[in-house]
Amino acid sequence: MVATSPEEQFRTENDHEALVSVKNFKLAQMVVRTNAGTARKSDERNDTGGDAVAEVAEATESGNGSERKPLLSGLLRCGKCHRMMVINGEKTAAHCGRERMLGDTAEPVSMSLIEAKTTAMLNTKAKLAKKLLGQDVEIPDVDGIEAEIASLKKDLMERYETFADGKISKEKYIAFRDKNKARTAEMEQKLSLARGRKEYLIRRKETLEPLAGIVDAELTREMLLRTVDAVYWDDGEVQLKLKADEFLDA
Ligand SMILES: [Zn+2]
Repeated sequence: MVATSPEEQFRTENDHEALVSVKNFKLAQMVVRTNAGTARKSDERNDTGGDAVAEVAEATESGNGSERKPLLSGLLRCGKCHRMMVINGEKTAAHCGRERMLGDTAEPVSMSLIEAKTTAMLNTKAKLAKKLLGQDVEIPDVDGIEAEIASLKKDLMERYETFADGKISKEKYIAFRDKNKARTAEMEQKLSLARGRKEYLIRRKETLEPLAGIVDAELTREMLLRTVDAVYWDDGEVQLKLKADEFLDA
């Protein structure tokens, strides 16, 4: 990926000259957040990555990372109850909100441990994605099937004209027509399957590519938001719910 300045990223997102500078944009956002108060907090709990672009711009600008959201913010969930885990203010530890509520004495887990395990697991999955992308897959020849159907229809039209001109018998025409129609129906079914398969393969490629791009890269929050739906922490182990899961299992 090519590194761009926050201004460039901001402009790309809007597709025209930025009307406000990133700094002002950031300020405006902070005002909105302050005003939103608790509403903003509940948004974060259901974080779906919608703020990702603004967030990446902020993270890039802040530079030293101290102002950044924790890498796994909005993604880290308790493996037992699947609730969001609460990350402490220092961003050094996390605990299940439910356990805390129930007065559970479970020690908060170190964020660096969770992040290290997440990175390792994600890298394994990324390598698998890369391997899968490297394998040859046959893309169905949708155009070829469409051409064959068009040709069958043209043949039938021509044969009908021959019959209408009195050059072949009605029996011969009907025999030809029935065979032609059966073949056309067969090809149309094949076309429908081929289209479905082609769409699947395109979606597969588009979903696996961002994941494969993570192999041995230094993990950023942008990479995580593009590839991960949730990180579950359970008894010292990490389970990932990835956008590409359906293609990794197959
Ligand atoms: Zn829990």
